[in-house]
Order: sequence, then C-alpha cells, then structure tokens
Amino acid sequence: MRYDTIIIGGGLAGLVSGIELARSGSRVAIISSGKSALHFCSGSFEFWSEGMAAVGSIAEHNPDHPYSKIDPKKIARYTEQTKDIFARAGMPLVGSAEANHLRLTPLGALKPAWLTMDEYVTFEAVGVSEYRSVVIVAIEGYLDFYPEFIAKGLEQMGLECHIREISLAEFNRLRQSATEMRAVNLSRTLKGSPLREFAQRVKALVEDEDLVLLPAIFGLGEERGLQIVEEIVGRKVKVAATVSASASGVRMQKRLTDAFQSLGGVFIGGDRVVGCTIDESRIVSLNTANHEEEEFVAENYILATGSFFGRGIVATPEEVYEPILGLDVVPQMARKEWYADDILDAQPFQKFGVATDSELHPMIDGRVVENLYAVGSILSGADAVKEGCGAGVVIATALMVAENILAYKHK
Ligand SMILES: Cc1cc2nc3c(=O)[nH]c(=O)nc-3n(C[C@H](O)[C@H](O)[C@H](O)COP(=O)(O)OP(=O)(O)OC[C@H]3O[C@@H](n4cnc5c(N)ncnc54)[C@H](O)[C@@H]3O)c2cc1C
Repeated sequence: MRYDTIIIGGGLAGLVSGIELARSGSRVAIISSGKSALHFCSGSFEFWSEGMAAVGSIAEHNPDHPYSKIDPKKIARYTEQTKDIFARAGMPLVGSAEANHLRLTPLGALKPAWLTMDEYVTFEAVGVSEYRSVVIVAIEGYLDFYPEFIAKGLEQMGLECHIREISLAEFNRLRQSATEMRAVNLSRTLKGSPLREFAQRVKALVEDEDLVLLPAIFGLGEERGLQIVEEIVGRKVKVAATVSASASGVRMQKRLTDAFQSLGGVFIGGDRVVGCTIDESRIVSLNTANHEEEEFVAENYILATGSFFGRGIVATPEEVYEPILGLDVVPQMARKEWYADDILDAQPFQKFGVATDSELHPMIDGRVVENLYAVGSILSGADAVKEGCGAGVVIATALMVAENILAYKHK
C-alpha cells in the first residue's frame, strides 16, 4: 500500500500530525498497536508550567529541549491552531498558552494547565472563582473519585463544599467486580433512561449550591451525557478528574480518530510496525505484525510511538533502546544515573528519547534518516512531569512536522 505519509503510532502526536496532513489533501495512514496515553488523560493539556512568556528563553538553558528546535513565533501559532483542531473534532477546549489556568487534580491539588476540556471545572487563578458553593456528588461503590480531597482543593478557592452520595441500580452489576467499577464502564452505562434516572437523583440532592460537581464519567454511552444531566438538574454542572482510565480521554481518542478518518485518513488499529527496509539513509517500506506479506510504502514516515508508556522506547536493566529501527537514544548514561533517589526530584529518565536534528529527523549511529520524522513524547530532552509540558511538546512537534512535510511537497 502506498501513501504520501505513514505515521507509526496513533496517540495524540500521531493523530494531530495525521489530521493536519489529511486536511491538506495528503494520503495518510496511521498504524497503531495499542492504547495511548490519551486513555489516561487528565482532561487538561499542559504547555509549560511557567506560561508562554518563559518558552522563548528555553533554548538558552536547554538547547536539547524539543521547544528549542521550534521558532517561538511558530510555537505561538501552533498553540492557537490547537484549539481549532479540537473544536473541529467536536472537543472544545478552554484556556490559552499566554496565561495558564488552574485545573483540579483527582487529589484536589490545583495545577497550572494550558487547555482543558470545557466540561471540567477550572479557575483563572487562586482565589478567583465564579462559584460560591458546590455540591460534590460521590457514587456509591465508586473508588476512583475522592470527594474529600476535591473539597479540600475547592475550599482553598473559597467555595463552600457539600458532599452527597447517590446510587444507581444500573451500576450494581458493575459493582460485583471492583475492576469493572471504572469511569469508562460507568460512562458507557450512562445513556437513555439510566442517564435520565441518574440526572433526576442528582437533581434531588441539590439545595442552594450554584455548582454541581460530578466525577468525569460522561460521553461514551451518550455523547451529550453531561449536557443532558445539566438540562435536567437545572444548575451549572461540571466534572472533576478521576484516577485510573479516563472516560474523557477515551472519548478524545475516538473523536480525533473519527476526525482523521473523516478527512480521508486510513487508521489501521491493532497492528504493530515490526520493522522496515532502509536504503542508504531513507526508509523504503514498513512491515507490520498482521500484514507480514504486505509492504507499507510512503514518501515520508512519522514516528509517533510515544515514550516508555507507548513502548516507543524500551528499557531493560542494561539499556534504553528504540525497538523498530534501532534509532539513537539519548542521553546515554550508567543505569544508576537514570533516576534520582528522591522521588520528588527531577528524574533523568523522563528526558530519555530519540536524538534528532533541528527538523526532527532521527538518526541511526549519528546518521540522519532523511524521510523519517519523530514527534511527540518519543523525543528526548523534555521532562513532562517537572516542566509541565506533556501535551504541549507533543502537539507543537506534531504540527511542526506536518507543516514541514507539506511545505516540501509544495516546493
Ligand atoms: C499515562 C499518561 C498520562 C498522561 N496524561 C497527560 C495529561 O493529562 N496532560 C498532559 O498534558 N500530558 C499528559 N501526559 C504526557 C503525554 O506524554 C502526552 O500528553 C501525550 O498524550 C503522549 O502522546 P504520544 O502520541 O507521544 O504517545 P502515546 O500516547 O504513548 O502514543 C503512542 C502510540 O503508539 C503506539 N505504538 C507504539 N509502538 C508501536 C508500533 N511499533 N507500531 C504501531 N504503533 C505503536 C502505542 O500503542 C500508542 O498508541 C501523560 C502521559 C502518560 C504516560
């Protein structure tokens, strides 16, 4: 099969690149093997914990950071473009890279965020809230949502918090197994009459609070689930993040995949790229586990296989390596230096990833692979946890590479 571009990996990075390329009329395929980090997304994207103004000086201190390879003016444009991409995919996001807002973690901490799905509760700054009082609704037997912690966080914002609990007959089947009582399964149950019954029960709990806060368990059984609850309850209803797999993240993955396919992109899920043929310094074709006899051929290839979580890079007790092409992984250091003893310190392994040139071409033994680009969390140099730049790096590099591929095509 022949394409203009083949993308390996269908998480956030692969899908954002794929959408931009397909939107410009390119023939694009994404081959993706498994769950992406989006399945555990908090509902918020981070860009840089200190805000956009600090991004321009990253190159001075950290020339190996992926942002250092992107013109700061382009970074600003990509942050604007991101909202459009998600809005077109039916997932409106609120926020701006200029000034971070605050999101609520499942443990009730307030953390800076760039963009957040609009159903989540967010705040402009500490102490700035449009709400006066909130009823936090817990669900009987659901252990991935911590109302007491959430209340502690909201009290810091000056909100008066009340915690109340509901049960629903339809959830009882899930309660028979602790592993079934998860956000994704609750969300699939909440459709039709169970959804309406749920909303009626929530309505019965509300007194004079001006905000109703629910766990993020909507949108998979019924796309408009939360809006329907809000209509029935008759108050402002928002959600807060849960731990474990994220119903919103699964929805986001589906929405982005649908958007890619509706633009003519080919999404080959459940298959793994296992190897490739390289001629000199160019990839000629790819092979996958499910299509052993078939060769996937393209002008350009994008590697978006993620970090350790996606298995874009793999660690053994001896080494960290990139499993498809054996690309150069940096930094190389002795195993005892991979991590810091204090878990709260910056962990060196967070910055492990493939080495690239300034256009994000990866290398094998120091030699650039000319028609291959790496995007997303497989790139070396960023510490998503300490720098608060997870999705920002992923999206900015995905958009830069899509733009460069299109620019070369039209030369
Ligand atoms: C659990 C988790 C939660 C996170 N939550 C947030 C958050 O809430 N906000 C935030 O800003 N950042 C978050 N991050 C940071 C995160 O890295 C990015 O937000 C982003 O989603 C990563 O996208 P990616 O496409 O680079 O990688 P992944 O999401 O890991 O996607 C890589 C994909 O490639 C596939 N793949 C791997 N190897 C192959 C192969 N050989 N053939 C075919 N397919 C392959 C994988 O199965 C996977 O689907 C989180 C990271 C993790 C690990």
